[in-house]
Amino acid sequence: MGGLRAAGVAAGQRPTLSGIIPFAFGKAPNMLIVMKMDATPEQVEGVVRKVESHGLKAHPIVGSQRTAVGITGNIGIVEPALFEPLDGVLEVIAVSHPYKLVSREFRESDSIVEVGGVRFGGPELVIIAGPCSVESYEQTLAAARQVKAAGAQLLRGGAFKPRTSPYSFQGLGAEGLEILDRVRSETGLPIVTEALDIDVLDAVADVADMVQIGARNMQNFTLLRRAGACGKPVLLKRGMNATLNEWLLAAEYVLDQGNPDVVLCERGIRTFADHTRNTLDLSVVPAVKRISHLPVIADPSHAAGRRDTVLPLARAALAAGADGLMVEVHEQPEKALSDGAQALLPDQFELLMAEARQLAPVLERTLPAIAPLPS
Ligand code: PEP
Ligand code: MN
Repeated sequence: MGGLRAAGVAAGQRPTLSGIIPFAFGKAPNMLIVMKMDATPEQVEGVVRKVESHGLKAHPIVGSQRTAVGITGNIGIVEPALFEPLDGVLEVIAVSHPYKLVSREFRESDSIVEVGGVRFGGPELVIIAGPCSVESYEQTLAAARQVKAAGAQLLRGGAFKPRTSPYSFQGLGAEGLEILDRVRSETGLPIVTEALDIDVLDAVADVADMVQIGARNMQNFTLLRRAGACGKPVLLKRGMNATLNEWLLAAEYVLDQGNPDVVLCERGIRTFADHTRNTLDLSVVPAVKRISHLPVIADPSHAAGRRDTVLPLARAALAAGADGLMVEVHEQPEKALSDGAQALLPDQFELLMAEARQLAPVLERTLPAIAPLPS
């Protein structure tokens, strides 16, 4: 006999202090019985019956890879030995958070997310750069060449733009995707671009090396599920009013659909501050690292909203442990069709890269040598 009973607590009763002291004052942890990949429905059913026989509630969670059975109704910790010997059970874990697949409790080591040969989450810092919007072939190609020459590993650029006003430039749409495709062949830079809704997700995933889900869509659960099934890595921006919990649960939607390749991006949150467009919440970087195995990068451009603040925020983000940066760059920001005020000029981006290169060894990170442009 073990668990609640071994601790002298009958099911449904409150524990005495001498019973389960560590949990007497706090919330009992969720328990999760993780089934083996090849566990049969009968074995899952056997586990559910065993849980219920102890007066507890069983919640089978059918993921695309494996099934887990959540336990609630426990007042203290549930003794893993009650369930571990059952057929089909891989392990029993105490889960202190509502998310599971994104949690370090599910996967202890850092996840590496590979995009067009570039690896997020390893020792290498990953710098994504390019214009806010794809405006023309010439503008996108020029930006791509400039950021690649400075050492960026991935090109960003929106073909479908989330704009506050319906009268603002909405992006070139399908034509923008074609431009990105051509610019990739010209420069060799893999593409990160946003899927604004489920109508365009497939078209975006066909072209993109990495599909961006924007801040305003972080809790678009239909879009998240579709992104989880799109077969491409996902860059998930933090909603401007999202807690860490909500952000990780959004990522959980993508992983739950069988797509483990999610990179989180902190892009600034709404606060009372009016000296910048948003407030870059760098305290979230170590918090993500503590709780989740997913890589996390920072976008100082959308946080700052003004180019003079991008470089200091970029430095700070790397120092705080971000796995990389996403930065907006435009050759003629005064003519940009979106976010010109925050776009770095190409030589300012070069300076940012030079500083990142100086910082990397201090942070025990690396930046690859600048790749030559195809001739
Ligand atoms: C963008 O990356 O251009 C963008 C619109 O970002 P966010 O969703 O963070 O506002
Ligand atoms: Mn932008």
